Amino acid sequence: MQKGLLLVVSGASGTGKGTVCKKLLEEIPTLFYSISATTRQPRIGETDGVEYFFISVDEFKNWIAEEKFLEYAEVYGNFYGTPIHKIEERLQRGEDVLLEIDIQGALNVMKKRPDGVYIFLLPPSLEELANRINGRGSESPETFSRRFNAAKNEIAVGEKYQYVVVNDTVDAAVEKIKSIIAAERCKVKRNEFLFEKLLEN
Ligand code: ADP
Ligand code: 5GP
Repeated sequence: MQKGLLLVVSGASGTGKGTVCKKLLEEIPTLFYSISATTRQPRIGETDGVEYFFISVDEFKNWIAEEKFLEYAEVYGNFYGTPIHKIEERLQRGEDVLLEIDIQGALNVMKKRPDGVYIFLLPPSLEELANRINGRGSESPETFSRRFNAAKNEIAVGEKYQYVVVNDTVDAAVEKIKSIIAAERCKVKRNEFLFEKLLEN
């Protein structure tokens, strides 16, 4: 049986990772979304165990000590981490797992899991990126310029990824990610068992 794909979607803040991943999950209900843990406060409408596991800094430090994270990073003053629990189990069962994480986290996962599928989302332009960061309505002028400048620096890191998807429209970005999934499933290295099975006699 083919193992599931470890899909890592990342990109600069405000590019649309959350929006694109949400739509992708609606279209592929079998995709397992890995819920991260964070020390940031829940936003209005967010529920513990749905968007994130909201935990204290002390708990986060315990999870680090207990090696419960595949990766973790500090993003804009808060900690975020990917719990390792369940990911391997799902992959072994042949289920695809989706991580939506920041760039530092993705680079760390790349080192540990070279078999992962690393997708970098790009905004169609810097002007549109600025609109999107502002459009969320949660930014003060200071946090806007901090996020926008950080985002510009982060974009250059995208060249380390395997795939780049421009998030022009959400639907087009989702279609491209679905094509990447289909192509990855056809890779010879993920299908060696097929050759073995066919030639076993
Ligand atoms: P990220 O998770 O990368 O920080 P979000 O998913 O929160 O980004 O998106 C940032 C803002 O941009 C949101 O207001 C979202 O509605 C908007 N957005 C995301 N993708 C698109 C798109 N393809 N076209 C227009 N607006 C978008
Ligand atoms: P937000 O606070 O807006 O939900 O997320 C802020 C940033 O943290 C986003 O770029 C998001 O992708 C990233 N993030 C969410 N979960 C994780 C995680 O588990 N690990 C890492 N490294 N980044 C994460």
